[in-house]
Amino acid sequence: MARDPLHDGHGRRITDLRISVTDRCNFRCQYCMPAEGLPWLERDGVLTFEEITRLTALFADLGIATVRLTGGEPLVRRDFPALAAMLTAIDGLDEVAVTTNGYLLERDARALVDAGIARFNVSVDSLQRDRFFAQTRRDALPRVLRGLEHLASFPEAHPIKVNAVAIRGFTETELIPFAEFARAHPYEVRFIEYMPLDGDRSWDMTQVLTGEEIRAAIHAVHPLAPAERAPHATARVHPFADGRGAIGFINPVSEPFCGDCDRIRLTADGRLRTCLFSLNETDLRTPLRAGATDDDLEQVIRDAVWRKELKHRVNEPGFIQPERTMSAIGG
Ligand code: SAM
Ligand code: SF4
Repeated sequence: MARDPLHDGHGRRITDLRISVTDRCNFRCQYCMPAEGLPWLERDGVLTFEEITRLTALFADLGIATVRLTGGEPLVRRDFPALAAMLTAIDGLDEVAVTTNGYLLERDARALVDAGIARFNVSVDSLQRDRFFAQTRRDALPRVLRGLEHLASFPEAHPIKVNAVAIRGFTETELIPFAEFARAHPYEVRFIEYMPLDGDRSWDMTQVLTGEEIRAAIHAVHPLAPAERAPHATARVHPFADGRGAIGFINPVSEPFCGDCDRIRLTADGRLRTCLFSLNETDLRTPLRAGATDDDLEQVIRDAVWRKELKHRVNEPGFIQPERTMSAIGG
C-alpha cells in the first residue's frame, strides 16, 4: 500500500468497498424497486470499466482490502465477467465478491469463477415458486435455483451465501424451509432485516421481522448453537447445534453494527457514499472525467470518508429515508 490507509473522523479504518456496477435490474423486488422500475441512469453517466478499475486501484492503495460488486443486478451489465477480471487483477485486494439475484448464474457462473470471483451472495426470498413471484415480481425461482446449483458445482465458489430479506407478514412461513435448505445444501442462509430503502417508500418498523424473532423460531425446531458477530462483519452466524449447516442474521435495524463499520460504497454513476443511509454523497465521476490525478482524487475521497456518519438513525424520530433506493445505492 503506497498511501496512508483511510480512516473516518470516528476512528474507524475503512477496508471494504461495495461497488454498484449498474442501477438496472431484471427483477422488481417489492422491498427494493417499484413495479414499473425506476428512471435508469443514462449510459454515459455510468462509470466505464476503465473508470471503475482506476478508482478501485486507488482505493486498494488506500487500504481497501475487500470489494463487493453489486447493483441493481450486476450480471445484467454487459461483459460483467470482463470487469470482474479487471478488478481481481488489482494488487492489494484480498477478495472480490459478487451479490446477485442468481437469474443469470447459469450463463455466467463459470466466467465469474474463471475471472477470480471467489465469494458469491445469492438473494432468494422464498423457496415457494408463487411466493417468490409475489416478492420479486418475476416467476423465476426454478431458474435461480438452477443457477445456484450450477454455481455450487465450482469448488472455488464455496462457501456460498444465500440471502433472504425478512419481512413480517411474508417471511414467517419461510423460516423452517430455509433452515432445512441450509441443512441440506452447502449454503449459509442469512436473513437480512428489512430496511427503509424501498422504492415504494412503504417501509415501516412494524414490517421488520427481527433476527432475534427468526433465530428463536428456528431454534425451537432445529436447535442453533450460540454465536457472536465477528468484528466488522454484518452477520452473526449460528451453526446448528448438531453441526449440520449454519444460519446467519444481519440485523441492521434491531442490533445496528455501525460502531465497527468499515464499509463505503461507490454508485454506478460514480458517487461515493459513506453509509447506506447517507443523505450526502461525493461526486468522483466529475473530477475523474476532468483529468484529476490520483493525488487529487485521494484528497476528495479522504475528505468524504473523514465525514462518514457515526451511525444510521433508522430507529430515531426524524429519520429521513435517502432519495436513492437500495437498487440505486448498491446493497
Ligand atoms: N440484485 C442483486 C441482489 O438482489 O442480490 C444485488 C443488489 S441488491 C440491492 C443487494 C441486496 O440488498 C439483496 O440481498 C437484497 O435482497 C437486499 N435488499 C434490497 N432492498 C432491501 C431492503 N429494503 N432492506 C434490506 N435488504 C434489501
Ligand atoms: Fe433487483 Fe436485487 Fe433490488 Fe431485487 S433486490 S430489485 S434483484 S436490485
